[in-house]
Amino acid sequence: MNHSTTKNSCEPIVPPIYETSLFYYHTFQDMITALRDQQHHYVYSRGKNPTVEIVEEQIAKLEGGEACLCFGSGMGAISAAVLACLKSGDHVLAVGNIYGPTIKLLQYLDKFGITFSVIHSMDVGTIRSSILPNTKAIYLESPTTMNFQLVDLPEVAKLAKQKGIHTIVDNSWATPLFQKPLQMGIDMVVHSASKYLGGHSDLVAGALITSNKWMERIFVGEYQLLGGVLPPFEAWLLHRGLKTLSIRMDAHQKQALQITRYLEDHPDVNKVNYPALESSPDYELGKRMLSGYSGLLSFELKNSSFAAVEKFINTLQLFKIGVSWGGCESLVLSPNFGDNLDDLKTQHIHPGLIRISIGLEPVEDQIEDLEKAFRLSARLIGI
Ligand SMILES: *Cc1c(COP(=O)(O)O)cnc(C)c1O
Repeated sequence: MNHSTTKNSCEPIVPPIYETSLFYYHTFQDMITALRDQQHHYVYSRGKNPTVEIVEEQIAKLEGGEACLCFGSGMGAISAAVLACLKSGDHVLAVGNIYGPTIKLLQYLDKFGITFSVIHSMDVGTIRSSILPNTKAIYLESPTTMNFQLVDLPEVAKLAKQKGIHTIVDNSWATPLFQKPLQMGIDMVVHSASKYLGGHSDLVAGALITSNKWMERIFVGEYQLLGGVLPPFEAWLLHRGLKTLSIRMDAHQKQALQITRYLEDHPDVNKVNYPALESSPDYELGKRMLSGYSGLLSFELKNSSFAAVEKFINTLQLFKIGVSWGGCESLVLSPNFGDNLDDLKTQHIHPGLIRISIGLEPVEDQIEDLEKAFRLSARLIGI
């Protein structure tokens, strides 16, 4: 592409946003060549786009994978990965608490004759015995959503390989900086880039990283046909976010460790779910699999009544009440909605569970905000 008449031999320090739907060719023959191999030519932005391609190459490199495709959301990437692995009659095994909409996707696939089961044990022996003759994929998050338990990814990858089962790991929590599932033998990694990769709560995006062999099929299949591609402007924002990923993750980690130590010692806290703590049952496994820990975690209030949960959340000021996570602003949420105790029980979630995403505000202010919420909600005890 040559889009400039100015004859300077220089480059912009920030890549341009190729906000274009199509790319034209000077000869019809060149167009035909491009059309026949859209994975390696610019044709139409529901295919390759140079701005999107820049972040795809960066993310593939970070994950240590051969190829990456970006999607319009994390769910776009997850749907593509799951659909690529499964066909009618197949079964998928999900381990632990996984992201709610991912479970809903597995339920949705029932109408195409794809079944699933969820087990709440991270034990590799239990995972092995839960595999059915038609299990074709194991879907994992490590740490798991809400309880932040770790799954032994290298062991599960080994087991799955022996049985010809595909493995997918949602690596949004750890980011490629802190965990590299592909190097542990996992087949596909998916990300909600709306979280840490973007990092500024200003975009929704997803990424799928896998081998070239898988990607050739996914590109012409789930990517181009389902069409959930990432627009160039969002890719540009993601590129901007990725520049500070490493310093942001270091800060999230440092602040989360300070906060979890504070929470661990708090008399109103039953338990802190964070694998970086020496007291965590996953501490040793974490040291083997993770090179760092992010800032999303949960803890359980001793008083697990909905009134206590509600009061605690409403009293926080710095921690904003909102979904998503991984941005600069601290956030809080609880899976306890006051009328879903049975659901929480099936999902093995403590009713007093509070999930926080540690943002980048000064850590003293974050702790002060939590302390105030503990003090005020403690008054509720006994009601
Ligand atoms: C948010 C999230 C997703 C979904 O990503 P979107 O970008 O919102 O579609 C998937 N997995 C996990 C663990 C998430 O937190």
